Order: sequence, then structure tokens, then C-alpha cells
Amino acid sequence: MSPKQHPPLSEAIKYSKGFQEQTAVCPHCGAISLFEQLKSDALGHRVSGTGLSSADVFYIGRCVGCDGLVVAVYGSKPGQESLARGGRTVLLWPVDTPPDRAPPDLDGDTRRSYDEARRILALSPQAAAVLARRCLQRVIREKLDITKGRLFDEIAEAAKRHELSRPTCQALDDVRTLGNWGAHPTKDEADTIIEVTPEEARYTLEVLEMVFADLYVAPVRAAEMKRRIKGRKDGGAPEGGDRNGDTDVGEGPAPPGTGLSAG
Ligand SMILES: [Zn+2]
Repeated sequence: MSPKQHPPLSEAIKYSKGFQEQTAVCPHCGAISLFEQLKSDALGHRVSGTGLSSADVFYIGRCVGCDGLVVAVYGSKPGQESLARGGRTVLLWPVDTPPDRAPPDLDGDTRRSYDEARRILALSPQAAAVLARRCLQRVIREKLDITKGRLFDEIAEAAKRHELSRPTCQALDDVRTLGNWGAHPTKDEADTIIEVTPEEARYTLEVLEMVFADLYVAPVRAAEMKRRIKGRKDGGAPEGGDRNGDTDVGEGPAPPGTGLSAG
């Protein structure tokens, strides 16, 4: 699982010359996946206006996990003037799309905005930031029951809530400083376009993912762990016990050997 074993896809392609299959992090599904090479060929001629040289090699591959296609190009000769100069591998498709880190039970509207934000990030950081903030607002309103009219104020309130971890609260509060948002108190609705850098837009998206993890993923996981430990206490099967129909999961200490005391 080390980065050396599973490099970004662009790194994997660079080192995979001559191999038909390669393992790397998929830019579509975010999983460490096997890539089936569909086509890899030298361009053979110069294409004006693209920055590609005749010696550049195209790579087209498919993630066996999600079927997502990737198109990349790498330069075959060091020192050559090319988009892929210096031994770089340039991912042409998908265009710098961050991996999907949405929880499976995310509602449809929030899911669509989140996906759109990821897809458009490289082309329009402003649009991506707007979509990410819109997601934030929905999640804050629905999961934390906070409604103050302005997202700027809702974020401030959410950052005080115990449902969110301390790092998430701090990162969430940072979002309010991006694009000098606080300097425009009358223009801080979720849909307002605020000038942000690509890095700030990506940061907003990543903070949203931290909120997802705290409000969607962690509670489900904690409930599963409680069910498991309840099953062991009852001397039943470790998976979801409850043979006697008792739904009280209790708060007692973990029995020895469960490995749950390490924090
Ligand atoms: Zn994939």
C-alpha cells in the first residue's frame, strides 16, 4: 500500500513501457486498481498547436474496477521539446479529476453537485468552489440542522459542533477565509461566485470530504462496531448478533482481545 508500490497513474504509465497491465490509483474511482492497456503507440508525426512531438507516445487504458478510461502521453526522448518533456507523463483524460470520496448514502442532489465540482475543478475553480459550497450548505442543513440563511454564518456555527472532529472544524472555518469571502458579507450565499485559486477550490472540496467522513462514514462505522462488540458480549456471532432481539447496545468497556482499546 506504500506510494512506491502504488504510484499515481501517470507515474505507473511512465514505468510501464512494454507491459500490458499496470496497477495504480484510478483517477475515476480512487481505488488502487489494475489498468488494462487498450492502446499504446508512438504519435509518429508532429501535431501543430498541441505541444506534442512526433516521438511522444499515447497510452489508452481501462480501469478494470470502474471501466473508466484514461488517456495519457509521455515523451520517449529526454530533452525533446514536448508537452511531456523531461520524462513527464501527462494525463489528458480525465482532466485532473480528484477521486470520488462521497459516502454511498449521499442524497441525489448533493451527489450530483459533488460529482460536477470534481469534474469541473481543472476547467473552472470558481464553478467548482460554488458547487462544493452548495454541497456544504445542504449537508450542514440536513445533517446538523443548522439554518441561518447565509452559508458563511452556517459554516461558523457548524465549526462549533461536536459532531465534527476538531481538524474538520478548523479546516471548515478556513473555508470562510478563502477568496476573501469574509470581505463580502452581503455576497456570501452558497451560489455566489468568489475569485478563488485552483488550490483554494480543491481545498474547499477536500474539506467537504472531511465533513462527509465525520457525518456519514464515522457514525455508520461506529454503529457497526457497537453491533459487533454486542454480538461478542452475548457470546453470539460477531456479525450483528441480537439473537434475543435486545436492541440495547450498552456502553461497557471492551472485552480483552478485541483490539478496540488502542484508540
Ligand atoms: Zn477506476
